[in-house]
Amino acid sequence: MLSISPTISKFSNLSDLHHLNRGRYSRHSLSHLVPPPPSTHIRNTKTLRLRHNFRISAIDAAQPFDYESKISDHIAKSKTLKIAIVGFGNFGQFLAKTLVRQGHTVLAHSRTDYSAIAAEIGVSFYSNADDICEEHPEVILLCTSILSTDKVLRSLPLQRLKRSTLFVDVLSVKEFAKDLFLQILPLDFDILCTHPMFGPESGKNSWKDLPFVYDKVRIGRDESRVSRCEKFLDSFAREGCIMKEMTCAEHDQHAAESQFITHTVGRILEKLDLDSTPINTKGYERLLDLVENTSSDSFELYYGLFMYNKNAMEQLERLDLAFESLKKELFGHLHEVLRKQLFGTKERSLGLLQEPRALSKLPPNGNGSSLPPQSDSAN
Ligand code: NAP
Repeated sequence: MLSISPTISKFSNLSDLHHLNRGRYSRHSLSHLVPPPPSTHIRNTKTLRLRHNFRISAIDAAQPFDYESKISDHIAKSKTLKIAIVGFGNFGQFLAKTLVRQGHTVLAHSRTDYSAIAAEIGVSFYSNADDICEEHPEVILLCTSILSTDKVLRSLPLQRLKRSTLFVDVLSVKEFAKDLFLQILPLDFDILCTHPMFGPESGKNSWKDLPFVYDKVRIGRDESRVSRCEKFLDSFAREGCIMKEMTCAEHDQHAAESQFITHTVGRILEKLDLDSTPINTKGYERLLDLVENTSSDSFELYYGLFMYNKNAMEQLERLDLAFESLKKELFGHLHEVLRKQLFGTKERSLGLLQEPRALSKLPPNGNGSSLPPQSDSAN
């Protein structure tokens, strides 16, 4: 049985009462006054008969203060985090757009004043590192260039943060980031090293099926810390990313073989100043795309991939050797044809002419860097 006296005390403030007195609630829900059992969704209409002939009809409209609305609000909030992006350049802004869309509270700090861009995206910008740390974000997301990360991390007023803050980085080199975090951050802070294997170009339409690498370097055992880390990872999982957990060392090995080679080839092609032609093949179109993709990243990023991944130098040497080997194969073939034309009859009669030996492939990664033996004709 419903009666008005016990329910009136459930109005949260005086203005609610005021509205009630003016009869404004007569056509609205009273389900907020008497919470329904959690498992049921009341969709029927109730009518209250009150003293002074006051009639209240209750229908289940979605009000911000009713039970269901509160529950769904709670669920939405429990999935969101307060994330401070440090380094609000190209990549920081790119990530912020999705994080804001997902409902996270996003703050940002950077060397450059990005307050206008931040406002457009829905991010609160702080020029001062003390101010952003005093906002006590749950997550600090480092999106600084590889080269500046050491300096930026050391300049953050860590004492102003909550003791258990989660530090996440997105650097394209992982062992370097992990070592830096372990070296600089107090033991109380959690550490998650990540690398979204996509950028503002490749992920501009969607993150679906794009790889996201992570290494839970140091996450406290508390349920709240574990769930905070999971919530952060879920921001990428729910966009459809392919979540790959691996050590930072494994990442760097794979990334040198794939990402560094890709960026290097893209930058070599960029130097050729390739133009689109009226008869582009599909393959050529892909090369032009590669140039566009890699050239939109800063040179500092590319240099960081080289400097701070110990596997990058070996890949650069392999690339060099592969190019030399290919040229020798071509020139060796040409040399053979010329020799045949010049001396063919005489050498054949003397039994001197042999089929050129095919150049074997370069040794696989990490298997030495010497070139395979060449046939005489190739030299
Ligand atoms: P970036 O050139 O590598 O980094 C630019 C960011 O670094 C800007 O926020 C810039 O701040 C900051 N920065 C540079 N030098 C600084 C210094 N001396 N002091 C303080 N801050 C400095 O370009 P990015 O593409 O934005 O990449 C950011 C990070 O994301 C890098 O670690 C990169 O490896 C990683 N990442 C990038 C991609 C991508 O596709 N771009 C993909 C995955 C991961 P200001 O703008 O305020 O000067």
